Amino acid sequence: MTTTRIQQFFDGKEWHSDVVVATDKKKLVSIGSATEYNGVVDSEQGIVIPGFQNAHSHAFQYAIVGLTDHIPIEADGDDFWSWRNEMYKRALTYSPENVKQIATKLYRAMRRSGYTSVAEFHYLHNDVNGQPYSDRAIMGRMLVEAAHDAGIAITLVPVYYHTSGFGTPFNDGQRRFVCSGVDDYHKLIEASAAVVNEYEHARLGVGAHSLRAAPIDHVREIFGTYAELPKHLHIAEQTAEIEQCLAATGKRSVEYLLDNVDINDSVHLVHTTHVLAHEWKAVADSGAHVVMCPTTEGNLGDGFFPLKDFHAYGGSWSIGSDSHVSTCPRDELRVVDYGQRLLHRQRNVFCQPGQDSGYELFTRTWKAGRRAMGLPLSETLTVGDDFDVIEFDAAHELAKVPQDRLLSALLFGSPGVPVVTS
Ligand SMILES: [Zn+2]
Repeated sequence: MTTTRIQQFFDGKEWHSDVVVATDKKKLVSIGSATEYNGVVDSEQGIVIPGFQNAHSHAFQYAIVGLTDHIPIEADGDDFWSWRNEMYKRALTYSPENVKQIATKLYRAMRRSGYTSVAEFHYLHNDVNGQPYSDRAIMGRMLVEAAHDAGIAITLVPVYYHTSGFGTPFNDGQRRFVCSGVDDYHKLIEASAAVVNEYEHARLGVGAHSLRAAPIDHVREIFGTYAELPKHLHIAEQTAEIEQCLAATGKRSVEYLLDNVDINDSVHLVHTTHVLAHEWKAVADSGAHVVMCPTTEGNLGDGFFPLKDFHAYGGSWSIGSDSHVSTCPRDELRVVDYGQRLLHRQRNVFCQPGQDSGYELFTRTWKAGRRAMGLPLSETLTVGDDFDVIEFDAAHELAKVPQDRLLSALLFGSPGVPVVTS
């Protein structure tokens, strides 16, 4: 048993002053008032909050940051699709050892910035020739080991990838991503589960890349088979996807998904950028969560999800760092909030009267982020949970605001109150 006296502790919902927290092998055992505690404490900390949840990551893309932010002299402009071609070229070069090296550096950077969990949306499955490795989950193992070395919890989400578009076979640049069919995917999941089960810090999720990369009946079968696991899917990131979906099915992407697959609170829809009001309302009503990746969506020029309205309607959303142009959760929250402020020419766009932006941003994304990791629905860290928390430097000038403004001071100050790293 380890005991820590904490000056200011946020449990996911409320602040507590001067408490003693007891943990056993990282599990939370008790939280109580320090003045009523008679024992000796092992350590003392200043400001402690739950760690941020990174609900969407492609680790290998960390190695591409900065390499695509120019326009080649022979090119005619740039957009998401030209970025994707560049990303595909790079994806063809990495060995399992490369992936582990990249992911270890990435996860360490995330951990330093305050993320304590990551959902790795993993689709780099095959060897450079497009053949499955003899150890089917070797790439997943590299990611799980990297997370272990970096001290971050991982939810490995092996992703189903089958086609390049609606009714179009995958192309050669996608050969490392594909499964031959759903039966093949089940084998990948079985092998990945064996890896995850070896480690305390690892969990398993399932995913389909997108409606362009996974036929709808395959998505339905996968999501139905793994009902108890968190399920992740890219959707509606680009207008071209919507146009292709309309041409192939007569429905927009989110309409087509909701009409054909049981979507519920175990489902995490990544981006959901281009939706009409009836679509985002249907997503919110289904209980599914939206995963926003604001710095990547900005970098790729995706567009704006109508987050202000979705949030006010009670929609559930989390954040992810996706291509890792930022590894800092506070960057994601600032960019997503400021984007909505700029769009609507308002301040505190996620607040009703009496509410605080930092509180709204943190509590909403932490709660949904936990679900994205496969953790139970909870508004607070509770006894028996992994005590995955981060400490901020209580001596920093920006940390001396009243407690009910402290989350805003921590989130909006930039460069702000440092995360204490051991
Ligand atoms: Zn993504």
